Amino acid sequence: MATEFNAFAMAQRQFDAVADKLQLDEGIRELLRWPQREFHFTVPVRMDDGTYRVFKGFRVQHNDARGPAKGGIRFHPQETVDTVRALATWMTWKCAVVDIPLGGGKGGVICDPHHLSDREQEQICRGWVRQIAKNVGPLSDVPAPDVMTNAQHMLWMLDEFEVLHGGHYPGFITGKPIGMGGSLGRPEATGFGVVFTLREAMRELNIKPENTQASVQGFGNVAQFAIELYERLGGKVIAVACWDQQDQTSYTYRKKNGVNLAELRKVTDRFGGIQKSKVEGLGYEILPGDAWLEQDVDILIPCAIENQITGENVGRIGKRVRIIAEGANGPTSPDADRLIAARNIFIIPDLLANAGGVICSYFEQVQCNTNYFWDRDEVFGKLDQKITAAFIAVSDLAKTKRVSMRDAAYLIAIHRVASACKDRGWI
Ligand code: NAD
Repeated sequence: MATEFNAFAMAQRQFDAVADKLQLDEGIRELLRWPQREFHFTVPVRMDDGTYRVFKGFRVQHNDARGPAKGGIRFHPQETVDTVRALATWMTWKCAVVDIPLGGGKGGVICDPHHLSDREQEQICRGWVRQIAKNVGPLSDVPAPDVMTNAQHMLWMLDEFEVLHGGHYPGFITGKPIGMGGSLGRPEATGFGVVFTLREAMRELNIKPENTQASVQGFGNVAQFAIELYERLGGKVIAVACWDQQDQTSYTYRKKNGVNLAELRKVTDRFGGIQKSKVEGLGYEILPGDAWLEQDVDILIPCAIENQITGENVGRIGKRVRIIAEGANGPTSPDADRLIAARNIFIIPDLLANAGGVICSYFEQVQCNTNYFWDRDEVFGKLDQKITAAFIAVSDLAKTKRVSMRDAAYLIAIHRVASACKDRGWI
């Protein structure tokens, strides 16, 4: 079933539905259904053992009517161009819904960093930039980290770009290390953003955070910081699911009186994989990978990969669940969406819930461009302001138009991008 899933087909279906509601003309529809540009290329690398391997790389620029394309680069063994296209499309809507002056892009390399040395990964990063250097840059397309890429990868990419262009261009890429053009607060930004929107949703539904429990899928960058801030608000996470590289399957780790974030972080690798052998002794129940969905909790926070809540498993969502905050991109299929709406579960859609990362990337660019860096509180304060304002706008529209939060977010985003294309005279 999973192999048949096509993220781009889903992104186009979502778009078509909103285009109907907005009664968009045929021309603008056709423009926005497809990426404006895409690049497919090879990245040859001499491996540590002296052999050569050729990796496949992508960069997709979906739309840049509102500003330079913006979006991460994923390293994943199952990466496909359709996944990258979908993610690029979602970036366009995400930047528009939170009203930052950027468009949508995404990139990837088909590779598995688990089996690559640091030197080999560096060569992939540099090779990727060499192939695309003329078509990306601070004024055209600004990459960032994503699944299985991090600040170190971004710095190697920046360095290669600056060597090729002969100057300093810190605004070329975001998610850089602190002190090397990175913004304070960027690691926390996506996870914290998820919880800023979750806090607003709880406020709207009259739910007190301290009376809630949550179950989280994923234990990587987004999940860990979402858990951190949610716990600071008083909530309790009782289950966390992640991928086990050794067993090639996922597990859910449950502690009914609350998982211990600090303790779990100590036994987690840099890819967000919790070491099963180490948690066994810490009093966690080890359940199947999809058990995170059926826990008796108030809140679900999917923060792993796409297509995790589907028409097939949506019925297993626990009866108590009131809110789903989508930390991951595209975790819920459209079939599942309908059933979630029918159950009156409040969904905070991915393009809004996980926009904290791109908002902070935008802040990183602003800081690089002015060569003046803000302190952490200033970053979090501005992030909270921006994402909360977007949440309120989406929620207001959802109420006035009597549509779901997802539809409202898409209506706002697509309307803004369509207007930018029209105002520029493109169509
Ligand atoms: P990450 O690589 O740090 O963590 C991914 C987590 O998902 C890991 O814990 C991994 O074990 C888990 N996982 C992977 N496959 C799984 C499976 N089949 N079942 C259960 N768990 C699985 O990645 P991240 O940066 O935290 O990103 C997570 C999601 O959030 C992705 O969808 C990404 O596109 C999205 N996102 C990330 C950012 C960001 O700033 N990092 C911003 C916006 C959206």
